[in-house]
Amino acid sequence: MPSTTPIADGADLTLATITAWLRETDAAALAELFDAADRTRRRNVGDEVQLRGLIELSNHCRRQCAYCGIARDRKDLTRYRLDREQILECAATAKRLGYQTVVMQAGEDPAIRADEMAGIIREIKSRHDVAITLSLGERNDDEFQLWRDAGADRYLIRFETSDHDLYDIIHPSLPYRLSDRVAILKRLREIGYEIGSGVMIGLPGQRWEDLARDILLFRELDLDMIGVGPYLPHPDTPLGRGDVGREIDPDEQVPNTEEMTYKVVALTRLACPEANIPSTTALATINKGLGRELGLMRGANVVMPNVTPSDCRIHYEIYPAKACITESAEACFACMLGRIHALGRRVATGKGYRGGRNTRN
Ligand code: SAH
Repeated sequence: MPSTTPIADGADLTLATITAWLRETDAAALAELFDAADRTRRRNVGDEVQLRGLIELSNHCRRQCAYCGIARDRKDLTRYRLDREQILECAATAKRLGYQTVVMQAGEDPAIRADEMAGIIREIKSRHDVAITLSLGERNDDEFQLWRDAGADRYLIRFETSDHDLYDIIHPSLPYRLSDRVAILKRLREIGYEIGSGVMIGLPGQRWEDLARDILLFRELDLDMIGVGPYLPHPDTPLGRGDVGREIDPDEQVPNTEEMTYKVVALTRLACPEANIPSTTALATINKGLGRELGLMRGANVVMPNVTPSDCRIHYEIYPAKACITESAEACFACMLGRIHALGRRVATGKGYRGGRNTRN
């Protein structure tokens, strides 16, 4: 028997109701949750799927996040950094494939110099009519401002978990700077970015209520973009090896499963009806056949096809067996298009700001 109460669109989601939904296992009840999320998605952001061309600029990183396969101490990884010309080429590829947004993501790499990055942003904006999203980790306010002034529209920085104790274990601060990603998100909003965040699902030591609080924090921060995916253990990381972690009651541990991910995508859509929510690569990694589609059917409205050169992309190994790791940008595009059309959805023609709008509010 379902333990949850029937869900209405825009349901009054409290810590208790979200937690109950996260723990729900009854198939009929979950079907109802997924339907409610799909209706809310259609009503608020429509049937268009936003395509964001992802460029993984660099896999160098100064941080030692315990979950991440490109963390500083990963000694055997081949490191790369795209140069300006390569980045401009990737942006041109994205535009040619019809993507209206370019997402530039990287490890936290100080060699990505703020002024050079600003120059690249300006150059992309002068050559192409695209929105630019950055995901370059924790940088200082002057750098965020510089990049915003250069034309960047959006910034993605996941807070990973809202539980401070777990966060400190998995995401150690730099010695001279306390890591406070929620504070950074608020600053980014003040500077004028659309802001995106998200979490991993099923981190060791993550309890049901922690995850429910994550969803409440998405709503409280009024995020424009929210990316969630399963935690995928990387065997060459401290968390993947079990060297770090925290003991919790096994009944409290959130599983890092496909079904959990759909529940979180659906509840996130109900909590944040207007947000842009991707069906993530991590989800596609645990179900290579249908993960993307099921994400799009249960609340998501964005996919992020990769346009990083294939010979570099294989080294952006945040977790093992990543989906879409070897395909060319063209193959990635064709694959995404097929999946979107098979769902009876269509590719968005505008830049896809929050709420399905084509211009900023
Ligand atoms: N350096 C940037 C980008 C990090 S990669 C930053 O720190 O913001 C983007 C996201 O991948 C991370 O925020 C994290 O949520 C996710 N990720 C990293 N390692 C992962 C793993 N092992 N399993 C699942 N997701 C992971």
